[in-house]
Amino acid sequence: MSEYAERRKRLWEKVRAQGVDAFLIVNVEGSEYPNLRYLTGFTGTFGVLILAENALFLTDPRYTEQAQRQVDLPVVEVRGRWIPQLIEKLQALGAKRIGLGSQRTTLHLFEELRKAGEGLEFVPLGSPVEELRKVKTETEIQRIKEAVELTEAGLRWILGQLRPGMTEREVALELEFWYRKEGTDHVAFELIVAAGPNSAMPHYRGGPCPLRRGEVVLFDIGARVDGYCADLTRVVALGKPDPEVQAAYKLVRAANEAGIKAIAAGARGKDVDAQARRVIEEAGLGERFGHGLGHGVGLEIHEGPRLSATSEDILETGNVVTVEPGVYFPGKFGIRIEDLVVVREKGAQTLSTFPKDELLVLAWR
Ligand code: ZN
Ligand code: ZN
Repeated sequence: MSEYAERRKRLWEKVRAQGVDAFLIVNVEGSEYPNLRYLTGFTGTFGVLILAENALFLTDPRYTEQAQRQVDLPVVEVRGRWIPQLIEKLQALGAKRIGLGSQRTTLHLFEELRKAGEGLEFVPLGSPVEELRKVKTETEIQRIKEAVELTEAGLRWILGQLRPGMTEREVALELEFWYRKEGTDHVAFELIVAAGPNSAMPHYRGGPCPLRRGEVVLFDIGARVDGYCADLTRVVALGKPDPEVQAAYKLVRAANEAGIKAIAAGARGKDVDAQARRVIEEAGLGERFGHGLGHGVGLEIHEGPRLSATSEDILETGNVVTVEPGVYFPGKFGIRIEDLVVVREKGAQTLSTFPKDELLVLAWR
């Protein structure tokens, strides 16, 4: 059985227990891209999976050949208005109660289906695919590990390319170019290169700001391998940094380590967050750490489970999460250290290996 068939089997068992006789994944303009890719391997922007005793895959003529290559299910080509043809297929399968995921099905699509599907009942079933995706197989973990290795190799490379006068934007672009050349299908997200005061904005993107001596540069970067993301943050200093930068770095590193230590199967998201947060709070900088400690990573850069002050998520073996505490001083600088770890029975297996014990200080003139 292919990995996709196995995932569909598990999903089908799960949703059938909720009393539906079919489950739909409707990917319109990429709306269900990660879930559909997870269940079929399909990477196009339009495709419909009808999960039932006999599953079917629908797509339009733009993707017929691609779907036949990627998807191990009968592929039905739909032309023109596809909703009536989907309804016909559901009726032919004898489906009456049809489940849908609520996270990515638009209200518009839901209404259209209800209008067209006379005699059919469409039932929102929460997030069954997202739930499955939280727990990774060893094969998935291997892909994430490869993405991390590529991400780190890129970081090593770009650090050797930094020169006075380069802008954040140039650095980010060079690094993305390197990743694409080295075979990543796409970067995992828009790479963040934040210099000096810009590093105090946790989700800053990188602009025309030049790299300057005495300042920090924050890299929050990730390559992608076979669709699977990496997510890594490291900060470097260009020439000798201020003592307060060094102090903040040591503090964040301690919080990062406390967070990683708190991770194990059975731990609650908010308790892991609290372990790392306490380190920063005890230093009187709790207010400076405004975001959650971490998030799941997989086919998407942000997925479950969450590590945050409010997360009731219970960690399970096979979750892959980031641990990324930070402190931010507006107008001055920010420090974040982000690692990617696998949740195991007794603790965390850290995938990132890029050194973090000391703030890396680059020679800069
Ligand atoms: Zn990140
Ligand atoms: Zn992250």
